[in-house]
Amino acid sequence: MSLSSLVLVINCGSSSLKFSVMPVNDGQPLLFGLAERLGLDNAVITVKDSAGNKSVLSLESASHHEALKVLFATLRSKNLIDSLAAIGHRVAHGGSDFKHSVLITPEVIEKIQALSVLAPLHNPANLTGIEAAQALLPSLPHIAVFDTAFHQTLAPAAYTYAIPYEYQQKYQVRRYGFHGTSHRYIAEQARAMLDLNQDDHGILVAHLGNGSSICAVKNGHSVDTSMGMTPLEGLVMGTRSGDLDFGAAAYIASCTQQPIEKIYQTVNNASGLYGISGISSDCRTLQEARENGNERAGLAIDVMVHRLARHLGAHLTSLSRLDALVFTGGIGENSALIRELTIERLSVLGLKLDKQKNSDMVGGRSGVISAEGFPTIAVIPTNEEKMIAMDAAQIAQLA
Ligand code: ADP
Repeated sequence: MSLSSLVLVINCGSSSLKFSVMPVNDGQPLLFGLAERLGLDNAVITVKDSAGNKSVLSLESASHHEALKVLFATLRSKNLIDSLAAIGHRVAHGGSDFKHSVLITPEVIEKIQALSVLAPLHNPANLTGIEAAQALLPSLPHIAVFDTAFHQTLAPAAYTYAIPYEYQQKYQVRRYGFHGTSHRYIAEQARAMLDLNQDDHGILVAHLGNGSSICAVKNGHSVDTSMGMTPLEGLVMGTRSGDLDFGAAAYIASCTQQPIEKIYQTVNNASGLYGISGISSDCRTLQEARENGNERAGLAIDVMVHRLARHLGAHLTSLSRLDALVFTGGIGENSALIRELTIERLSVLGLKLDKQKNSDMVGGRSGVISAEGFPTIAVIPTNEEKMIAMDAAQIAQLA
């Protein structure tokens, strides 16, 4: 594979398909975009290039397969298709089967299918993308990169739920963790940026976006993470509740006479920042509302920060040393306020921000924001597409 080779990264949802064309030797996509509302009569595909040009095409109730056909025609018209060396597919759930990214074979497809019981909304959608792309470009290596794989190094003490053990044995009920591709990328970037000893380091990564999770990384391996069997556990997120006393859920079910499926939808789609504020799931919107005196927006932010600081403190106990706390994701990379409020709560651990550096480190900047002489706190923008492209390129070379 030459340095000018390209990897197409595909992230397929139930009605959407995100894509990026990534050069193997670079983190910036040549072309990227999104096909959305697939299957509906107002489906569209938006393609952007690195020069800032954008085109929007109507797809008229296209399927994933048809959307990919349009994308491949676009790549052909831009003379990019022949440079494609591999296709990297983001896959949500790899269960306990996948500890690394893999070349997609019929057996791999079968396993991803079987794991759909653990991720019924995501794995079937990911498979739709894989099958459509394989049908259209069968001669290229297709590689699956799993959100869960990085956390397969968790010890049983970290991944076992304290419920009857047979549920784990019979139904694979355990903690898996997500955002693994982002956590792995950030941990590798932080280790290189801070020149940490490969065999003796400890990093806390706070990936804060619409979905948020923490990962404790010890010597390059995930040893604890805040999401669980599904991406619902842990932090307060845009619309997800994060940790919730199951007794509260059972009580709500009995008060409102709702079935468990309905409660599950509520804690996933109508809770978190949105549920508390009643205004928005978007952190930026809530920061503005809080500035304007909206109390519930303020409370939503307080609850998010309280939970975040609490989880960071708890995750620290899985490390034997702390070399860096790194913020990433839309909120982690851009919200100086959330970082400031969180670190204030962590002063008990000896953490302190440099206020100026913190307020300057936004909009995709990368660097250290801690006060001189205090433990390192940094901001590093995540780039899951780059990590997927790097995995795909490496595995394709071996294929
Ligand atoms: P996703 O999990 O969907 O990938 P992102 O990582 O893009 O989400 O993060 C989206 C979140 O980042 C939103 O809550 C958004 O408000 C927040 N965000 C983006 N820019 C800012 C900003 N300047 N200040 C505060 N929050 C921001």
